[in-house]
Amino acid sequence: MKKITIILSCIILFTTSCNSSKETKKGEKTTTSKYVTESHSYAQPNAAVVKHLNLNITVDFDQEVISGSANYSIENNNATEIILDSKFLDIQKTEADGKETKFALGEFDKHLGQALKITITPETKNITVYYKTTNKTEALQWLKPQQTADKKHPFLFTQGQAILTRTWIPIQDSPQIRVTYEATVKAPTGLMAVMSAENPKEKTKNGLYHFKMEQPISPYLIALAVGDVEYKAISNRTGVYAEKSMLAKVHTEFSDMEKMVTTAEGLYGNYAWEQFDVIVLPPSFPFGGMENPRLTFATPTVIAGDKSLTSLVAHELAHSWSGNLVTNATWDDFWLNEGFTVYFEIRIMEALYGKERAEMLALIGRQDLEDELISFKDSPNDTKLKLDLKDRNPDDGMNSIAYDKGYLFLRTLEQTVGREKLDAFLKNYFNSHSFSTMHTEKFVTYLNNNLLDKYNITFNTNEWVYKPGIPSNQAKIESDKFKNVELTLQDVLKNNSANTEATKEWTPQEWVHFIRNFPKNMEIKHFEMLDNTYNLTNSTNSYISMVWFEQAILHNYRGHDIDDKIEQFLCNVGRRWYVTTIFKAYVKSSKKEEAINIYKKSRANYHSVTSNTIDNLLNYSQ
Ligand SMILES: [Zn+2]
Repeated sequence: MKKITIILSCIILFTTSCNSSKETKKGEKTTTSKYVTESHSYAQPNAAVVKHLNLNITVDFDQEVISGSANYSIENNNATEIILDSKFLDIQKTEADGKETKFALGEFDKHLGQALKITITPETKNITVYYKTTNKTEALQWLKPQQTADKKHPFLFTQGQAILTRTWIPIQDSPQIRVTYEATVKAPTGLMAVMSAENPKEKTKNGLYHFKMEQPISPYLIALAVGDVEYKAISNRTGVYAEKSMLAKVHTEFSDMEKMVTTAEGLYGNYAWEQFDVIVLPPSFPFGGMENPRLTFATPTVIAGDKSLTSLVAHELAHSWSGNLVTNATWDDFWLNEGFTVYFEIRIMEALYGKERAEMLALIGRQDLEDELISFKDSPNDTKLKLDLKDRNPDDGMNSIAYDKGYLFLRTLEQTVGREKLDAFLKNYFNSHSFSTMHTEKFVTYLNNNLLDKYNITFNTNEWVYKPGIPSNQAKIESDKFKNVELTLQDVLKNNSANTEATKEWTPQEWVHFIRNFPKNMEIKHFEMLDNTYNLTNSTNSYISMVWFEQAILHNYRGHDIDDKIEQFLCNVGRRWYVTTIFKAYVKSSKKEEAINIYKKSRANYHSVTSNTIDNLLNYSQ
């Protein structure tokens, strides 16, 4: 981790945050730096930076390779080389303004990959890289037909965040760099290709697809999926893509999407991306959702049949403002993406479904945060909002601190300044920084100037942002529904008898709270009684399954063939949060051998972001 003190990072800011170039008296052009120092990209954007990408690729399922060219318009500040990021790519040829030019690959780093240094002249306006992906690519997951819902055709999807786009496109892979793009993708006939761009709604006969993304986005948001999917509109600007057998279910589950967009616009201003669609991917997708602009990628584990897990869509939609419109400048500033998004997500859920549901979501997040604080007890620096991830994988920062401590910061701020003032501030913040990047120090200054100092309000921002742990002025989150759940649990344990009257109207969130609060010394007979009454081992709600399996492992409950069910779950679902929670329970309860036996079977079904996490957790190497 980069050991930059606050003072040092302020110095870096001071020297690098002024914009663009200015003319001196002599007419010489002196350029001040526009981009901050970034530890997860080799790019030197202040010298030469990519502005527009024209991607021309072929997707070959037989070879499991993407090949073609990436052509860039560049902004060139008299540079004689431009540096791109590249990892596990086979670079074949490079061109500058249409003529072949030299390139060199730098030393390999296990997180960053290699610098791709392309020779240019100060006049060069355009470069092209001819390349293909290799079998080590980390962004792509190639799925066999049996790994899909319909089991007939293969499927491919990409996952760019945090620094994986460089494993399928040579690019300046830093979130502070924004590109517009167009793409031509040749897919096998019969399959549809979709991207984080203007998308087709029907398959083409020849498998050739053209895409355009006219709003500038960070490279981690460039995304592609290819599969046997179909489209169904919800409104004229929202809709869903899914495999045929899933399409109707997905459409019903997400039928509130237009209402969500309208609600979000009511809070923080117009939706800037025209279209908001969701594609539901096969279950190995490693995240709940990924906010690829215009086309969120989502796990099928949220299709619960009762809209109970659709806060995920609210979350990904909220990223259309926090993350996609105003983007974290570096991965050390990740909380600016996620903390704001959780806050916004909960506000959307409150506006749509009421305070009670929103408070349950907030409280679950608060408990996740408590668990995370415990897991970081030996590395308190990892509990700061502003992180220092130099020499580390930026994935290390993708945890509850960014999400839930970030949320708690904003919630506490709301409590201090009042909702009306905070909303007005946030609306202005998104509006005045749209299509640009933000780092923590700049945000703190903006917050002081436009909210705190303006209204003469004292707030311990620096303690929240730059210090470990949770400050004592944290907002208190309470849920009457959850209090009732806790009372019911006490009752159930005391009498060893289910209370079906109390539980009959429960939402999955209440079930999750109930299960997560099982005491350490809960007896097997209680598990048996609950399983006999509620059939929890066979729950069709993946969130309930995850927490029930976790508790079963921790308490060594083996009834109802639960071991088989857990194994099936882990072999089918690749969502990192779920998989990690369950494998952690094995490790915690000294059953690592059991975990490894399952992992040997399930690993092949996971995307690299999930398998990397579990490899580390289990110290596993193939
Ligand atoms: Zn998010």
